[in-house]
Amino acid sequence: MNVSARVAPTVLLPPRSAWIEVDLGALAENFRIIRSALAPDTRLIYVAKAEAYGLGARRSVPVALANGADQVAVFTLGEAAQLREAGITAPILLLGEALPEDVPWILQLNLEPCVGRLEIARLLDEHGRQRRVRVPVHIKVNTGMNRFGFHWRDSVAWSRELSRLPGLEFAGVLGHFAQSDEEDKTMARDQIGRFQRCLADLRAAGVEPRHAHHCNSGGVLDLPEAHFQQVRVGILAQGIYPSSVCRRLNGLMPVMTVKARVTAIQPVLPGDTVGYGMRWQAKRPGRIAILPIGYADGFPRVRNEGCVLLGGARAPLAGGVAMDALMVDITDLPAVAVGDEAVVLGRQGREEITVHELAGLKRSVSYDVLAGWRARLPRVYRNE
Ligand SMILES: *Cc1c(COP(=O)(O)O)cnc(C)c1O
Repeated sequence: MNVSARVAPTVLLPPRSAWIEVDLGALAENFRIIRSALAPDTRLIYVAKAEAYGLGARRSVPVALANGADQVAVFTLGEAAQLREAGITAPILLLGEALPEDVPWILQLNLEPCVGRLEIARLLDEHGRQRRVRVPVHIKVNTGMNRFGFHWRDSVAWSRELSRLPGLEFAGVLGHFAQSDEEDKTMARDQIGRFQRCLADLRAAGVEPRHAHHCNSGGVLDLPEAHFQQVRVGILAQGIYPSSVCRRLNGLMPVMTVKARVTAIQPVLPGDTVGYGMRWQAKRPGRIAILPIGYADGFPRVRNEGCVLLGGARAPLAGGVAMDALMVDITDLPAVAVGDEAVVLGRQGREEITVHELAGLKRSVSYDVLAGWRARLPRVYRNE
């Protein structure tokens, strides 16, 4: 028989022995908690860009919408199209800044784009008038982040220009904090003041956007005076705080756990080395467990640093993390056997590897850890 002609349908394959567990019950509960921490008439936007920060947007967004979110935000047209294909009919805010070639698709997918350049505003207006619809847009104001948006210093001028575009419907106006979750709120307060002056200039020009919004998770927690009519929440929905100093909400739970099963165990004798570059050397007779997850899955590329949880205990990594595997010193854990479940991120028994611990290993931020897991790690959904 011609072996190369055989096809194994991927749905029939055994599950990969490294995976992400997504607790949809915890996600739902987090939304209920966040919702109840807001004023009843404050709208809640779920920022589900980058596959809902790694959870998988298709599965997370319906849970969010059923538990208190009013709207979704994504960053790319592809992300928005995926949600529409999945049957999501809620309003979708398209973050960032569109380019001219995106405009027809924004109308086609019925999106609410952020607009921070007059060229794009005029193009959206033109397309709207051609199709005899008013295109819902959110006026993006650069209040100091200096990334996207109309500059706060020029608000009189762009307010007047926007007021001349009858093809647009002003669904919102937004800014974005450069720092909202640290103790020092000086910059955040400056940004709020600038935003309020822009709102006044818009009003003076006859432009009255339906909903103003400036808060991300940090602002939701620590800047209640800036909630305006709606807020945008990403990381907090995952039960992860944007910083160590921001306000806590009772009952929030982490949604994401990353696990792998031990697929091999190697005995080592004093002097034996482990992994590329021989950077770890055994000082005593011991055992090394191999987990089939590596930096190509999004695990930090560290060397002789970090831990995983096995048998309810912390076990240190040995040698450098490889593309597909990492090695763990289990010399002090004699009960560990091939097939055992290890926790790479999350809880096992009384121990926990936090997102912040992995962020330290990655020399990065918690956001990067969550969103950094690659698509080849399957997502397994629990507690729907
Ligand atoms: C990503 C993003 C958010 C969400 O921020 P969190 O800190 O995760 O809540 C909000 N607004 C904009 C413009 C964003 O790009």
